[in-house]
Amino acid sequence: MPGGGLTTRGPRNLLRQIREAMAGAAPAQERLDTVVRIIAQSMVAEVCSIYLRRASGELELFATQGLKPEAVHKTRLRPGEGLVGEVARSAQPISLSDAPAHPSFAYRPETGEDPYHAFLGAPLLRGGRAIGVLVVQNRSERRYDEDEVEDIQTIAMVLAETVASGELLGQEELRDIEVAPHRPERLKGQLFAEGLAFGHVVLHEAPVPPENLLAEDPQAEEVRLHEALVGLKANIDKMLEGGQGGLAGPSFEVLETYRMFADDRGWNRSLVEAVRTGLTAEAAVDRVRNEHRARFAKARDPYIKERLHDFEDLANRLLRVLAGDRPGERELPDDAILVARNLGPADLLEYPRHKLRGLLLEEGSAASHAAIVARALQIPCVGRLMGLRDRLSEGDLVIADGETGEAYLRPRPDMLAAVESRMQVRSQREAEFAALRDTPAVTLDGQRITLLTNAGLAVDLENLDAVGAEGIGLFRTEFQFMVSDELPRLDSQTALYRRVLDTAGRRPVTFRTLDIGGDKVLPYLETEREENPALGRRAVRLGLDRPGLLRLQLRALLTAAAGRELRVMFPMIATVDEFRHARELVDVECAWARRRGRALPDLLRVGAMIECPSLLWHLDALLPLTDFVSVGTNDLFQYMFAADRTNPLVADRYDPLSPPALRALAEIQRRCADTGTPVSVCGELAGRPLEAFALLTLGFTRLSAPAGGVGPVKRMILSADLGAARRGMANLLGSSSASVRGELESLARKLNVTI
Ligand code: PEP
Ligand code: MG
Repeated sequence: MPGGGLTTRGPRNLLRQIREAMAGAAPAQERLDTVVRIIAQSMVAEVCSIYLRRASGELELFATQGLKPEAVHKTRLRPGEGLVGEVARSAQPISLSDAPAHPSFAYRPETGEDPYHAFLGAPLLRGGRAIGVLVVQNRSERRYDEDEVEDIQTIAMVLAETVASGELLGQEELRDIEVAPHRPERLKGQLFAEGLAFGHVVLHEAPVPPENLLAEDPQAEEVRLHEALVGLKANIDKMLEGGQGGLAGPSFEVLETYRMFADDRGWNRSLVEAVRTGLTAEAAVDRVRNEHRARFAKARDPYIKERLHDFEDLANRLLRVLAGDRPGERELPDDAILVARNLGPADLLEYPRHKLRGLLLEEGSAASHAAIVARALQIPCVGRLMGLRDRLSEGDLVIADGETGEAYLRPRPDMLAAVESRMQVRSQREAEFAALRDTPAVTLDGQRITLLTNAGLAVDLENLDAVGAEGIGLFRTEFQFMVSDELPRLDSQTALYRRVLDTAGRRPVTFRTLDIGGDKVLPYLETEREENPALGRRAVRLGLDRPGLLRLQLRALLTAAAGRELRVMFPMIATVDEFRHARELVDVECAWARRRGRALPDLLRVGAMIECPSLLWHLDALLPLTDFVSVGTNDLFQYMFAADRTNPLVADRYDPLSPPALRALAEIQRRCADTGTPVSVCGELAGRPLEAFALLTLGFTRLSAPAGGVGPVKRMILSADLGAARRGMANLLGSSSASVRGELESLARKLNVTI
């Protein structure tokens, strides 16, 4: 039980009355008047006023008990002007025993507030923004105590949520009020996944809905909060000790910061105080999170910004612990555009695919797995949209422009119409790609190209026929693990692989064994803590260290492919020995199955992914051991250029269309040709026409692209004459520039290649 015992203080009844008054049928002004009256009464204040922010930024007196009624809708203060403006600007409560004596006091004769000395104001916060101010005033020079300051903040929160949810004021009345941003805005970000969509905002870190703000039983709620905090700390301790989630979770330093914050007295006290005022534990977390966000929103210092993120992550973790005992499915609109600061791929996969139209992120990077999942889902994704979350409310209309890398918030009808017509053009183009579906991918000079697709989700299988690929060049098996709450058992792994092979029919499928680590986290897998997960025990390294895991998967693959062809490859091979060991495990599993008289695949091909630069200098040793190889350019280049693919600060610092990257690819292709080793490229760049054009000119003839890339790449192939292009590429490989993108574009244009 929390120290000091349970206290039943708090404006609980008042909050209930406010909620009832808000939900009533009377006109908005009448309801606001009732609200200020009951707050004044309950707080034994002579004055209670509500100011709301107008679109101009001014704070307008919307309702008052105690000030002159004529001042309502007349008195307006700019942000920072007067005490009310100061509360809004600083996003913090202000309590004064003698307000008129304060230098910020702005005298407004129409209000008749001269006789009132004591002043207590609290901001109405939504996300990281103050949308209004709630004030109580008294004649006497009294001091409001800490409990009263707490209470007014909770009342302000309930007001803010109710006003913003549209319960209090109708849409018409909200039009000119900045309870939520409502003007159209355009934000420029970065393109992470192609496409174009509009729909309604779903906030990944959603505010608590107004009906869940108030606790039924505040004492029980305090116990819930306390238990959740204990659970949260235990989780972090476990991660710190190298327990769960460490493999690809936050770094040690971040965890230590979390631990410190989780112990932070101020944070804990704020939460407990908020619950004691009558809020649910979730609402308390939300209130404190909003206060932090608003307070630090304008901070430029990267250190402070980072700490704010840490606090937010901690709040999200706490909300997840709390959700554990009240799991609730969120209702999503059918045209959801998901909005988040950042997302892991597993978070994204938790949303129902058929309702997701797009993804907008405040941060993120194009090479992260969340972006890859977005591409697999064929939904547009735009990232690095500064200030995104504070400019949107749940349910806002928004356009995710995955052509230009922009987001249009609350677009005007003409904007929407323009986007709809662009969407029509897109679907016409998609129809053209669909028409090419059965056309073999042959260049103008007769080079046959095998065009495959990357997959990993059930939706990929549904789309396989539509995509027009000749097979699956990369099946990311870890996606099944990432969408599961526990380690998938042998039979569910087998069932999935069988389904994949059944759906593919005669088309080849290359399964990649589990690639966990980096930004792919499995919360249920106990692993060591790592400082640097991208360079850590990722992928096959984990499989070799925990052969039970890998053998189980191989067993599932062998069983599923009994009587057919099985192609399996290992990710993140860095040394020849790793490949040998991994292959031995395949042999061990085959022998195990044979001993039991089980059927085996008719044909078994075992390959390696080339993702670690070390292999470039040992291909002569590796290739004779493999049946095929596949180049994972996403990782190969992150390691070649020492630039974390998930870190937006460095992920875009180099261009894959650069001489070192292209020379590395040329070398791999040449070695494979010399040894007759089949080679494909399955990194994301195989799905971009210009990059794929470069690959063809280097001699690659097998590409595996994300589903959305197959059509555009096929169209490029059909328009390309490789003879001339190869000569052009040979010159570019010798260039001393950091990027040859421009030159390659000119070459493609000169040769009439459709890129
Ligand atoms: C790659 O690294 O290029 C690759 C295809 O694997 P992943 O993106 O899943 O790491
Ligand atoms: Mg990879």
